[in-house]
Amino acid sequence: MILEIVKYGNAVLRQKGARIEKVNADLKKLIADMFETMHAAKGVGLAAQQVGRALQLTVLDVRGITDRPSTLERDGKEADVAEFMPLVLINPEIKPLGDPVSGPEGCLSFPEIYAEISRAGMAEVRAMNDKGEKIDFRCGGLLARAIQHEMDHLNGILFIDRMIRADKDELKEALSELQAKTKAEMKAKK
Ligand code: ZN
Repeated sequence: MILEIVKYGNAVLRQKGARIEKVNADLKKLIADMFETMHAAKGVGLAAQQVGRALQLTVLDVRGITDRPSTLERDGKEADVAEFMPLVLINPEIKPLGDPVSGPEGCLSFPEIYAEISRAGMAEVRAMNDKGEKIDFRCGGLLARAIQHEMDHLNGILFIDRMIRADKDELKEALSELQAKTKAEMKAKK
């Protein structure tokens, strides 16, 4: 089922996600719906907050992007990124590694808004997968960027918080319009 993607202006995007204790049938359904929603929107990552649920859960799939490579290391060895996708991260912990790299970013909760964001070039990640198993890996490139973006969502942090001042100033009007539109839509639904 395709879920509605929550847009900027909805307070759930600022909520820190609750820790997930168990992978049960409800959670599996939510994960399946999040993948369907993300793929339909042509996104590479989607956090639970973006479908209105403040949970430590994010789904990712970088296979659709071919011009921005990703790297993956598992057990100290280079691993196939495509084979590792789609990726479910539950209660993830992240250690950013390496020098910061600036790159273009968008967000499904901010339609048509893009900016250059500086993030660590690599990241070490520990999480639980959708089978309830512990996973850990190291990644770089687009996957490292996407995971850091999604991790932020799980903590109520948005990419606009990481934009340089000049970019945020330039987007100020578009952002307040989006915020007002979201609030008006939420009010109309009540
Ligand atoms: Zn986002």
